[in-house]
Amino acid sequence: VTLLVTLSCTTTKQKNVLNTAKPAPQSIIDRKVDSVLNLMTLEEKVGQMNQYNGFWDATGPAPQDGAAAKKYDHLKKGWVGSMLNVRGVKDVKVLQKIAVEETRLGIPLLFGYDVIHGYKTISPIPLAEAASWDMEAIKKSAEIGAAEAAASGLNWTFAPMVDVARDARWGRVMEGSGEDPFLGSQIAIARVHGFQGNFSEFNLAACAKHFAGYAFAESGRDYNTVDVSDNTLHNIILPPFKAAADAGALTFMNAFNELEGIPATGNAYLQRNILKGEWNFDGFIVSDWGSMAEMINHGYAKDLKQAAEYAANAGSDMDMESYGYVGHLADLVREGKVDEEKVNDAARRILKVKFQLGLFDNPYKYCDENREKETIGKKAFHDGVLDMAKKSIVLLKNENNTLPLKKQGQKIAVIGALANDKTSPLGSWRIGADDGTAVSVLEGLKQYNGNELVYAKGADVALGNPMFIRETKINMTDKSGFSEAVNTAKNADVVIMVLGEHGLQTGEGRSRSEIGLPGVQQELLETVYKANPNIVLVLTNGRPLTIPWAAENIPAIVEAWHLGTQSGNAIAQVLYGDYNPSGKLPMSFPRNVGQLPIYYNHKNTGRPIEEAPESVFWSHYNDVDNSPLYPFGYGLSYSSFEYSNLKISSDKLTTNGNITISVDVKNTSKTDGKEVVQLYLHDLYASVTRPVRELKGFELTAIKAGETKTVTFTINEKTIAFYTANKKWESETGDFKVYVGGSSDATLESNFTYTK
Ligand code: BGC
Repeated sequence: VTLLVTLSCTTTKQKNVLNTAKPAPQSIIDRKVDSVLNLMTLEEKVGQMNQYNGFWDATGPAPQDGAAAKKYDHLKKGWVGSMLNVRGVKDVKVLQKIAVEETRLGIPLLFGYDVIHGYKTISPIPLAEAASWDMEAIKKSAEIGAAEAAASGLNWTFAPMVDVARDARWGRVMEGSGEDPFLGSQIAIARVHGFQGNFSEFNLAACAKHFAGYAFAESGRDYNTVDVSDNTLHNIILPPFKAAADAGALTFMNAFNELEGIPATGNAYLQRNILKGEWNFDGFIVSDWGSMAEMINHGYAKDLKQAAEYAANAGSDMDMESYGYVGHLADLVREGKVDEEKVNDAARRILKVKFQLGLFDNPYKYCDENREKETIGKKAFHDGVLDMAKKSIVLLKNENNTLPLKKQGQKIAVIGALANDKTSPLGSWRIGADDGTAVSVLEGLKQYNGNELVYAKGADVALGNPMFIRETKINMTDKSGFSEAVNTAKNADVVIMVLGEHGLQTGEGRSRSEIGLPGVQQELLETVYKANPNIVLVLTNGRPLTIPWAAENIPAIVEAWHLGTQSGNAIAQVLYGDYNPSGKLPMSFPRNVGQLPIYYNHKNTGRPIEEAPESVFWSHYNDVDNSPLYPFGYGLSYSSFEYSNLKISSDKLTTNGNITISVDVKNTSKTDGKEVVQLYLHDLYASVTRPVRELKGFELTAIKAGETKTVTFTINEKTIAFYTANKKWESETGDFKVYVGGSSDATLESNFTYTK
C-alpha cells in the first residue's frame, strides 16, 4: 500500500503509455490508476477482472484443499479483484488484509452484495417503493440500506435493478420500478444518489442492472429468450440505464438473456457501442452470476475459453463466478485473440472505482467494528423504513368509506396466514435480515387496543422450504382452516383478510404462470365473503395479481406489497387512518393472465374499436376487456381530488422554447392528503409509431382539505425526443396531445404543435 500510495501521488509527469483510448487530459484519479496499471503483470490485470463468491470467512482456518483452496491461492497471488457474498466487518477484514498485505501490489478488494432494499433494517421491495412516486423517500431508503451495509464491511451493491418490466409473471418485477421508463429513470437517479452519496464510509458503489432487456423474457419465464426490437430497446428499456449512467453509477451489470441472438455478456453493441461509447460510461461492467459460462448453453460460445474471449472483446469487464477470465484471459491475450489494450481498459475501469471509493487511501474504510455495532438497526433507520412503507401503500378500492377503520368498539376478524407472518413481509432479497424480524399485520393492528381482534389462519399460502417453493396444486389444497375462519368472520363487524404471495414466491427464479392468489386463498376469500361481506382485503405480494372477483365484490382493497421490517405498523396506520395513503401503481394490474404483457404506454393498432364497434374485426379479446383491472398510475386516497382548469401557455412549441402546462387540483374532502399529479403526452404521428400516451412529468403534492393547488409542468423539445427512424435520439415536428390527471387514465386534455 505504501508503495502504491506514494507512487500514485508522484505520477504527474509520468508518461502515460497505456491510455491510448483516451488522449484527453487526465484527472488525478486517472493518473493514479495508470501509475498502478504500469506496475501490473498481465495476470494481475486479469486478476482485477475476476470476482469470486465468498469461500472462506474469519471463523475457520485457511482452506486447505478443493475449490476454496484454489480461490485462496488466487487471492494471495493478486488474481482476485472483488468478492461477493461476504459480509460482516470481521470476515471482510480477513480477506481485505490478505489482498492488501499478502499480494505483491496490495490492491484492495471490492466487496459486493445484493443490497436491494435494505440490509438488516428492510425497506419495502423496490416495486413497492416505486408506488410512492416519492423520490426523496426512495433516495432516503437507499441511503439507509447503504449505511447499514457499508457498516458491515461492504462497499458495493448490485442495485438498483432498473429493468422496465411489462410482464407480471416474471418474478423479478418486485426488484424494479415497474413498467414506465420515465418513472423508472427518476427512481434510478434517486437510488444511485442514495447509495453512492459522496462516497463516504456510509455509501456504496451502485450497479445498474441488468444490461439489457432481461425483463422482456418471453412469457415472463425467468432467464428465457428475449427478442425485442431496436425501437423498444432504445425507447423503453434503455432510458433508465442512461439515467443511471448520467447520475454517476460507478458500475453496471450485464444480463443472462440474449438480445438479437447475442447473449448480453458477449454483446458488444450494448456494452461497447452504447454504454461505453455513446454514453461515455467510464465505470466498469460486471457480468451476472456465471453469465459468461452461460453463453455456452445459449449456443453461442463453444467452451469457456471462447466465452471469455467473446465477453472480453464485447466489453464485459469483470467475471462473476464463471472462472472464464482467471482461467483463460491471459492466454487469449498471448494468442492474440484479445488485444491487451482491452484488458488494460477493463482493469483501469475497476481500479478507478477503487480509487473513487477511497480504498487505496484506506482499504479498511468500511471495516470499523464500532461503527458496525452502532449503525446497524438504528432507531432512525426503523423510522425511515416505516415512513417508506406507508408511502408505498396503494389504496385500490374503498366503497362506502369502509376505510379508515373505527378505533373503538369494533370486533375485528383478522384472517389469513400472511396476517400472522413475520418473515414474508421482508420479501425477496433481504440478505442481512433474519427470519421473523418483520412486524406482522396482526402485531401492527394490536397496537390499536380500542377494538377486539380475533385471528384465524384460514389457509396456508405456501408450504415447504420457502426458499425453493414450487407451487403444486397438490400441497396447497388444505381447507381445514376454512370453518374457523368463517366462524370468526361471522361475529365480526369488519373482516381484515391478509392474502397474497409469500415473500419468497417472487424474486429471481420465481416466475408464475398464474398470478392470482396462490393456493386456496381465492376460495377462502369467497367463502368468508358469504359469511360476512364487510371485508377489507390487504394484499401482500411482489407483483401485480389478477384479482377480478375481489375488485368486483370486496368493498375495500389495500395493496401492501412486501413492505419490509416495519410492514405491520405501516399497514395498521393506514387502515386506521393515521396515515392517508397516496401511492399509485407503478405497474398495470391485469384482469387475467392472458392479457400479459399489459402496459399503459402501448401502441395504437390499425384496428381500434371505433373502426368496427359492432363486429369482431378490431383488436380485442372476445372474452375480456382490453383495459387492465387497475391502470398504471392509479391509486386512491382518503381524500378526494378534483382536477380542473387545464391550461397550456401556448399551443406552439419551438426548438429553443418551452411551454408550461398547469392544472388546478382541489381536495374536495375533509381530510388532508397527497396526490401524485401526472402529465402524459401523445405524439400523434411520427417516423415510427408512438405510444398512445407516455408519462412525461409528475408531482407529489400535499393538498389540505378544501384547498386548491395549481400544479405546473414545463416541457421543451427534450421532453418529446425519442429514438426515431433515423436510429437517433431526437425530436420530430408534429402534433401532440396532453393529458393531466391522477392516473394514466387521465381525461383532461389539451394539445400543442412542435415546429423547428
Ligand atoms: C442475479 C443478480 C445478482 C447476482 C449476485 C444473479 O443471479 O441475477 O441480479 O446481483 O445473482 O447475487
